[in-house]
Amino acid sequence: MRISVLGSTGSIGRNTLDVIRHLGGRDAFQVVALTGQDNVELLAGQAVEFGAAVAVTANEARLPELRSALAGTGIEAAAGDAALVEAASRPVDWCMAAIVGIAGLAPTLAAARQGARIALANKECLVSAGALFQRAIERAGGLLLPVDSEHSAIFQVIDRAAEAAVERIILTASGGPFRLWPAERMADVTPKVAAAHPNWSMGVKISIDSASLFNKALEMIEAKHLFGASGRTIEVVVHPQSVVHSMVGYSDGSVLAQLGPPDMRTAIGYALTYPARPNLPVERLDFSALARLDFEAPDEGRFPALRLARRAMEAGGLSGAILNGAKEVALGAFIDRRIGFLDIARIVEQVMDEVAPGSDPETIEAVFAADGEARRRADAYAPRR
Ligand code: NAD
Ligand code: MG
Repeated sequence: MRISVLGSTGSIGRNTLDVIRHLGGRDAFQVVALTGQDNVELLAGQAVEFGAAVAVTANEARLPELRSALAGTGIEAAAGDAALVEAASRPVDWCMAAIVGIAGLAPTLAAARQGARIALANKECLVSAGALFQRAIERAGGLLLPVDSEHSAIFQVIDRAAEAAVERIILTASGGPFRLWPAERMADVTPKVAAAHPNWSMGVKISIDSASLFNKALEMIEAKHLFGASGRTIEVVVHPQSVVHSMVGYSDGSVLAQLGPPDMRTAIGYALTYPARPNLPVERLDFSALARLDFEAPDEGRFPALRLARRAMEAGGLSGAILNGAKEVALGAFIDRRIGFLDIARIVEQVMDEVAPGSDPETIEAVFAADGEARRRADAYAPRR
């Protein structure tokens, strides 16, 4: 099986290569492209270990370093956005899309267009370009396999023989580190505190998005694109233990859930070997040690992201791209200490008030135009230091 991993140096990328390693590594898989951004040393090490054909850094300034790290190995080195898209276009059977943010859209779309099975961690593709992205996969005869743990869970328990009986998609949310905090206390948290997720170990951006519940907001929109046929509701329930990864409710009152330890390798492995299940060295749940599973309603007063997601789902068109573009800039401004934690949602809402959702995008350029407009406006609300 030929595979590529876009964003191989990140948290999902490293977990993906760990799964590949456990399933036989370079003897079992032909690794075509691996991509990263700043951690060129890790990227080169991965390329050598897995015998990749090409390694690409998004950061052109790092190309000389990547070249010298790969000298004499026969592995191609490349850099920049066009090189990312070129590498993603090389034929493979399976591609992990694990670049963070809208930066992942063009390369993932390129991988989709060549007909590969797309293991999708990059939720921003669906949030910003949902129908357009799904059409590209369909036209090329590929398959979309969700890797986000919630969407993998739903994908695993949705009964395709009883589609019409699906009433509710229920996303679980850990509630993040501020689940029990009053809003006043959240106002002046530092990025480091916001990035300390109680259950999952993930990249910094998604960890802070989990604290603001913007990660769950993106996941609601993602779920709508994947599973939200008309008439089905998309709900969120806070479940602090992160053991039930999500649920599907049926018209006979049944609810099917997928459970597992908070380890992304389960969802990654399922997407890799679907419909088979791999043997993975993840922890097995011990229910007597777990003792209890709690559930509670989310507080939309303290976490307005959920309300904004519903608004975007109702408005449709480009509102996912607008919400995400504004959120990415506001998140960056929070990480740079230009704004406070609660300003992230305030800025996203302000931008959503100003930019009309328009209609469903037909082209990637339309998505980038809405994303760019949202970014410019969000940036104007974040003071320069
Ligand atoms: P991360 O920050 O750890 O890694 C991101 C990867 O993208 C790295 O390889 C980085 O080099 C690359 N990258 C960053 N900026 C880039 C740019 N401008 N151009 C090209 N490449 C760039 O992030 P992560 O936690 O692995 O998350 C990756 C994606 O998966 C995100 O969309 C996230 O929402 C999603 N996701 C992650 C988890 C998780 O457990 N980490 C769970 C569900 C979904
Ligand atoms: Mg998730």
